[in-house]
Amino acid sequence: MDKIASFTVNHLVLEPGVYVSRQDRDPATGAIVTTFDIRLTAPNREPVMNTAECHTIEHLGATFLRNHPVWAPRVVYFGPMGCRTGFYLVVFGEVSSEEILPLVRELFAFVRDFTGEIPGARPEECGNYLDQNLPMARWLAERYLTRDLAEADESRLHYQEA
Ligand SMILES: [Zn+2]
Repeated sequence: MDKIASFTVNHLVLEPGVYVSRQDRDPATGAIVTTFDIRLTAPNREPVMNTAECHTIEHLGATFLRNHPVWAPRVVYFGPMGCRTGFYLVVFGEVSSEEILPLVRELFAFVRDFTGEIPGARPEECGNYLDQNLPMARWLAERYLTRDLAEADESRLHYQEA
C-alpha cells in the first residue's frame, strides 16, 4: 500500500501551527477540498491532549464552525487527530494557511472564552457524554493562541520538505 502524504511529514521537527496537508479535487463534481492540520502540541516532544479536552474542543469547534456567518457553508469536517496532538479541518475550496488563520484564531478564542453547557454533550446527543473537560480545553486554546498563533510565521504555516 502507498504511504499516505501526511505520514511523510517529519514529525520530529514539527512545531504547533496550522498546516495544509492536502488539496484534492473531487473527480465527480470538480469541487476542490482543502484539509488543514491544526496542531496544538509538538509531536513526540510535548504531552498530547487528553481525550476529554479533545472531545470538548471537538464539540465547541464544530458548533462554532457550523454557525460561522461566512465559513459555515464551506466547512466539510472538524475533528480530532488520533494521536491527540491536534485537529483536522476540511473546507471546500482552495484555501491557504494564511487565509484560514483568522478563522482558526476565532475558533480558539471561542473555546478559550466559552462558559456554560457544552453543546451536544447530553447523553441523548453524544456517545460518551461524561468525557468532557472544559477547563483544560480553555487552557489549551489560550496556550495555542498566545504561544503558537500570535506571531505565526512560515515555520508554523507550511510543512517543510522532509
Ligand atoms: Zn461527543
